[in-house]
Amino acid sequence: MDKKILSVVGARPQFVKAAMVSAEIDRTDGVGEVLVHTGQHFDANMSHLFFEEMGLRAPDHNLGIHSLPHEEMVDRMCGKLEDIIAKERPDVVLVYGDTDSTLAGALSAHRKGVRLCHVEAGLRSFNPQMREEYNRVQTDRLADVLFCPTQTAIDNLLQEGIDAAKIVPTGDVMKDAALHFAALARAPQEALPDPFVLCTLHRAENTDDPDILKQLLYALEQTCGIVSVVMPLHPRTRLRLQEMEYPIEQSPICFIDPVGYLEMLYLQNHCKLILTDSGGVQKEAYFAKKYCITLREETEWVELLHRGYNHLVGHDPVNIVTTVQNLLDMPPLFNDDLYGDGHTARTIVQRLLA
Ligand code: UDP
Repeated sequence: MDKKILSVVGARPQFVKAAMVSAEIDRTDGVGEVLVHTGQHFDANMSHLFFEEMGLRAPDHNLGIHSLPHEEMVDRMCGKLEDIIAKERPDVVLVYGDTDSTLAGALSAHRKGVRLCHVEAGLRSFNPQMREEYNRVQTDRLADVLFCPTQTAIDNLLQEGIDAAKIVPTGDVMKDAALHFAALARAPQEALPDPFVLCTLHRAENTDDPDILKQLLYALEQTCGIVSVVMPLHPRTRLRLQEMEYPIEQSPICFIDPVGYLEMLYLQNHCKLILTDSGGVQKEAYFAKKYCITLREETEWVELLHRGYNHLVGHDPVNIVTTVQNLLDMPPLFNDDLYGDGHTARTIVQRLLA
């Protein structure tokens, strides 16, 4: 009988990762998948578009749970996931990354006594204030198999006393996606300035504190005096801008709606450099051979910092603008090949079968 994997996704970065693993499961004999979408991201351009563009098949279950405080959202997801696990009786529950959907999948698997596998295990920011950090640490503690994208992730887990036998080095499935979809990259519909730098901003630490958000906006407006800034606007950030009555339409920053993955690849390939607080986009900057300025105080992807590809600048406007100036015309000196060979999904599925 086929091994049955129940995969839990819910947020944009998880659709990107699952697209590669689900396709690999489909190609592999002896294994089948039940795909559950928690509903955490639900706007068409944050969810449906990714299923469409990346060929991810329609979820078998959609829980429709979103826009709730963290604990309530996880509890509600668990209630439904536990029912689905009881009905589907999977051999393995597979979760991705660090969102509330990840934690809900992990808790539900644990309570129902099903093996839990975690893709992107071992990442740490060491910032206990970050919800994502809480989700990852809890998930890693419950997981039976921990798929690690980097040596740093492995070291973090060993440091925490996780049994080495549970740890599987895999590479990063986002590299699989970047390589697989590279030829399909396409320009967004909006007219773009040329040249431009690309910016994404959505972490709660940046958007939910009005003083920090104001400083970041000021820094980006100042950057517009040097080079145009294109920013696909995450729904949470849009909401915060509206709440503070920021004049989105009159801003020098070129705001566009969130784009699909293929459009995002195009933007990453055609920009001068990238400013972001996203985890995934920091790596994608490296895949596109673009310098990255990370609008945070710390990062999980430390190997990019150590090699000078990524620069942590926090939210201080002077620091941000100076770093843009320094990096803008820096030749792209990228001479290594981090994050695996682009076949991470295969490694993961083979291990799931083992
Ligand atoms: N992304 C996208 N369109 C956008 C912004 C981001 O397709 O408008 C993609 C991005 O290329 C990456 C993923 O979404 O693959 C990262 O998701 P996000 O930044 O929301 O989450 P994080 O990686 O920080 O968890």
